[in-house]
Amino acid sequence: MCTDLDTHQRPWQPPHCPNPNCIYHNHFHGPWPFKRFGFFWRQARPNRIRRFRCLACGVTFSTQTFSPTYYLKRPDVLALLMTKTTGCMANRQLADDLKVAPSTVDKQLYRLGRHCLLLHKRFREDLPQPTTIAVDGFETFEFSQYYPCHFHLAVDCRTAMFLSFTDSPLRRKGAMTPDQRRKRKEQENRFGRPDPQAVRKDMAELIADVVEPGSQVTIRSDMHPSYPKAIRQVPAQIRHEVTSSQDYRDRHNPLYEINLLDLLIRHGQANHKRETIAWAKRRHGVAMRLMVFLVWRNYVRQRWRKHSSQTPAMQAGLLDRPLTPEQILAQRLFVSKAALTGRWRQYYWAEVLTPALGVNRRHQLKRAF
Ligand SMILES: [Zn+2]
Repeated sequence: MCTDLDTHQRPWQPPHCPNPNCIYHNHFHGPWPFKRFGFFWRQARPNRIRRFRCLACGVTFSTQTFSPTYYLKRPDVLALLMTKTTGCMANRQLADDLKVAPSTVDKQLYRLGRHCLLLHKRFREDLPQPTTIAVDGFETFEFSQYYPCHFHLAVDCRTAMFLSFTDSPLRRKGAMTPDQRRKRKEQENRFGRPDPQAVRKDMAELIADVVEPGSQVTIRSDMHPSYPKAIRQVPAQIRHEVTSSQDYRDRHNPLYEINLLDLLIRHGQANHKRETIAWAKRRHGVAMRLMVFLVWRNYVRQRWRKHSSQTPAMQAGLLDRPLTPEQILAQRLFVSKAALTGRWRQYYWAEVLTPALGVNRRHQLKRAF
């Protein structure tokens, strides 16, 4: 897997042409013709960076083209963000701590989120179909409390592997003053009302993502009325086990793994704390932070138990040791080599929009990532 490669070790050979339009990007027709093309100097270490040229398409590139820190003036920040965002620091606190601009944290966090998305996608290709999966909706909000949303989570009950997630915007509900009701009406007139079927559709998309067509799987959930309808939409033999959310939540509860995941997200991510001032401004930002959390939870964090301490990836047989943030970031992953579809494709390209925000910056870089 990619984590074994250190791009700064020498002699180093580029694994493929970085140009997605070149025949040597994906498919090799004999040995790839490329040549060394000098060096360039930069301020960050290592200062001297080797360059190359592809003789098939003429594109020039460097060792940095294959690094997740490509084009960054502060390449040291990316690895630090992983433990700090999962250790409950808000973006502005991160900027103060790392002595960088707040916009640097925002951009690098998005880049780290995209990298984590591609990394988990690659690992999932080797993951066998889980037989028992727990799903649940994690409630949070974006922009203001007039815009609540659900993040639908799926966990493998055997290994505790956080498999995937999707999200749905919700209509604000619960007790409101007459002023709050008037403001909700104004906002809905301006920006539209969320789809009342969103939870069913997005839960169906999540289950279809984690259950292979035709397979036999048990899905555990609470008593949300949309879940049976969502499960019926998926073309697989699914046995649905329902547990009341009022049941005592200890490790004997069938939903233990998903309850624990909810708890860890609330515990580890500053934007999901109750009564916080670090709430998410954009649903896409929540997704990118959650992507970092997913990789940290599955591949980095060991689960301390009496006789063993393994990561979910070790329990699933994907790895034989925990990864460090530096190993996670050992090599750039190319989106052109990943067949992204559905919601995760939208997450990658920042296409999940927050209408109330006005301007939603999308990810439109072509050569960088
Ligand atoms: Zn090429």
